[in-house]
Amino acid sequence: MNKNRYENRNSYVIALWLTVVGLVLFGALWGYEWGKSSLERSAISAYEQKIESDIKALIEDKRDASMAIAITLSQNPDIKSMLCKTCVPVNFDFKQLSDQLATNTNFNNVWIQLIDADGASLLRSWSPKKGDSLLKVRKDIEANLANPKVTRTLSVGTFSLSVKSAMPIFDEQKKLLGLVEVISKFGTLAKRLKQAEDIDSVILVDKRFRKQLTNAETGLFLEDYYVVNKTALLQDRAFLAKLAKLGFTHFGGYQLHGQTIVGRHLILDNSHQEIASWFTFSNKNQVDFTEMEQILAGYIYAVMLFLLLLTVLFIVYCFKRQSDGRKRYYRQIIDSASDIILVADRNKVVDANQHFFDFYSDFSTLSEFLKQHEDLSNTFEKEEGFLQKYMQGVYWLDYVLQNRKKVYKAKIMKNGQPHYFSVKAGMMEGLQKPLFNVLLQEITEQELYKNQLEHLSQTDALTGIGNRLYFNRSLNKEIQRSRRYKSDLSLLMFDIDFFKKVNDNYGHDVGDQVLVEISAVIQSLLRETDILCRFGGEEFAIIMPETGLIEAEKSAERLRSTIEKVSTSEFPSKLTISFGVGQVTKWDNEKTILKRVDNALYSAKELGRNRVVVAEGDVIQRP
Ligand code: GH3
Ligand code: MG
Ligand code: MG
Repeated sequence: MNKNRYENRNSYVIALWLTVVGLVLFGALWGYEWGKSSLERSAISAYEQKIESDIKALIEDKRDASMAIAITLSQNPDIKSMLCKTCVPVNFDFKQLSDQLATNTNFNNVWIQLIDADGASLLRSWSPKKGDSLLKVRKDIEANLANPKVTRTLSVGTFSLSVKSAMPIFDEQKKLLGLVEVISKFGTLAKRLKQAEDIDSVILVDKRFRKQLTNAETGLFLEDYYVVNKTALLQDRAFLAKLAKLGFTHFGGYQLHGQTIVGRHLILDNSHQEIASWFTFSNKNQVDFTEMEQILAGYIYAVMLFLLLLTVLFIVYCFKRQSDGRKRYYRQIIDSASDIILVADRNKVVDANQHFFDFYSDFSTLSEFLKQHEDLSNTFEKEEGFLQKYMQGVYWLDYVLQNRKKVYKAKIMKNGQPHYFSVKAGMMEGLQKPLFNVLLQEITEQELYKNQLEHLSQTDALTGIGNRLYFNRSLNKEIQRSRRYKSDLSLLMFDIDFFKKVNDNYGHDVGDQVLVEISAVIQSLLRETDILCRFGGEEFAIIMPETGLIEAEKSAERLRSTIEKVSTSEFPSKLTISFGVGQVTKWDNEKTILKRVDNALYSAKELGRNRVVVAEGDVIQRP
C-alpha cells in the first residue's frame, strides 16, 4: 500500500474539515450579526411601543383631568350664576384656580374659559380680557353652542397644541346658559415623560398649521413645524430640522441616530387626522437587551457545541478511515496469498481469503459455501493418513493445534482430481470468542511426486509388481491387520524350477521375458486382495489375507498346475514352479513365517520340484 497516497488523502480531508469549520464559523458569524441586529430591532421596537403607550396614557390622563375640571366647574353654582343674566353677579377667579392647579398638581398650564350662550368669553384664566365674541375665531364653539354636548378635542389653536374639554351648562329649565372650557397644553407632557422615563421629547405640530399659530406660545419653528415644548433640546432640534426639511418622509417607527433612538409617535385629532408628531430621544442603553443577550449567548453555545460535535465526528471519521484503510491493506495481503487462509470458529468458517474462493470455485460467497459445508472438514476425503473431522475423537482444529510443529495433510477432491494441502492452524488472541486462523497450503505436486517415488521404490522394475520392500511392508501391515481383526492370513512362496537353464539355453533377455509373463499369469489368477511380490531373482511371494491354510494350499496348487499347463508355445521350454505355503499363526512374526515358508519351498525343491509343500508346524486338517 502506498503510504504517500494516504498522507495526501489525509491532508485533503483536513483541508476539507478546515473549510467546513471555516464555512460554519463564517455562517455562524453572519447569523450572529443578522440575529443580533434583528433582535436589537425587535427590542427597540418593543421599547418604542412602550413609549407609545406611555404617551397615549399621558395624553389620556390630560384629557381626563381637564374633563374632570370642566365637569366640576360646570356643577359650581357660582359659575352658573355668572352665566345667568338675571342672577346676582358673582366674582369667580379662574386665574387663582389655574395657579392652584399649577402649584398642587401636575397640571401647571391649565387654561379655563367661561363662554356664554351667545359665544362671548366671560372669563379667562390667562387673560383679563372679557366680553369678546369667539364665534368668528372658534368654529368649534359655534358648533357646540348650536348643538350643546360634552366635547373633548385634541387640536391646534392659535397658541399651541392642546386638549380642550368643553362642558355645557344648563339652567333649571334645561336652557343652555353657556360653556365652561378647560384647555390643557401639551408642553407639560414632554416634561412629564422626561421625569418619568428620562426621555427627551420634541413635539412638532404639522406644518399645515403654520399660519394658524398666530400666537405661537413657544415661538419656535423647525421648517414650519411648530415646536410645542420649550424643553426641546437644541441638538435634537438640529437633527429634526434636517429631517423636517425632508418632510419626515421615510421616518418609520424609529431611527437610530448614533447611540440615540429617535422615535416618532403620531398625535391624532378626534377624526384621526395626524396633527402633530411626538419625537422621543432615548439612549440605546435605556433599552432592555437582556433577552437578546441571553438568546445570543445561547446561540454562541449552540455554535460552539456544533463545532465540537463536528470535530468529534471528524476525529471519529479519521480513525474509522484509517482503520478501514488498514483493514483493506491487510485484506489485500491476505487476498493476494496463493494459499487458502481462513478464519473459523468451532463450528464453521467465518471469513476466507480470495484463494479460498478460487479453489472452492462452485461458491462465490461464504454463505453459499456454508449452506453446503457447515464445517470445512466436510470437504476432506476420509482417507487414512489425512485429516478428518475427528482425529482420535478430537475435533480436527484442536487436533492440529495440539502439535503445531507436525505437518497435517488434508486431501480434497475437486473435479475428480485429488488436491493435497498441508494444514496449519493457530488460535487468534484477544478476541471475544475463540477463533482459529487456518492455513491450507497446496502440496498436490509434491504429494503426487512423493507418491510416485514411493510407488517406484516399492515396484519391481522388470515385472511391475511389488518388490521386496513392498513385500516387507505389506507383510507387516497384513500381520497387524489379521491380529486386529483375528482373521486368517497365509503366505505363499514360489520359485521357478531350473530357471538357470532358461537363461543358459535362451539367453538372459528371454529369461527376463519369462519372469514378466509368469508374474502376469499368476497375477491374473489372484484375488484383488492378494499381494504378489517379486521376492528376488526368480523367486516370488504371495500374501493372502483372509485366507486359511487349506485355501492357501489349494490356491498354490491351482497356480502351480496352471503354470504347468500353460501352453509350451507361451514359454521357450516347459516350466514349472515349486511352492512353499504357510499360515501365519499367533506365534509368528514376519521373520518366522518367512523362514517357515522358505523352508517349505526348499523342501518342495528337495522333494523333486513342481509341487506344493506346507510349512512345518502347519497342520492341514483335511476333511
Ligand atoms: P532350482 O531353482 O530348480 O534349484 O534351479 P535353478 O536353476 O532355478 O536354480 P538357481 O536358483 O541356482 O538359479 C537361479 C537362476 O535364475 C540364476 C540366475 O541366472 C537366474 N536369474 C535370477 N534373476 C534373474 C533375472 O532377473 N533374469 C534372468 N534372466 N535370470 C535370472
Ligand atoms: Mg529356481
Ligand atoms: Mg531360485
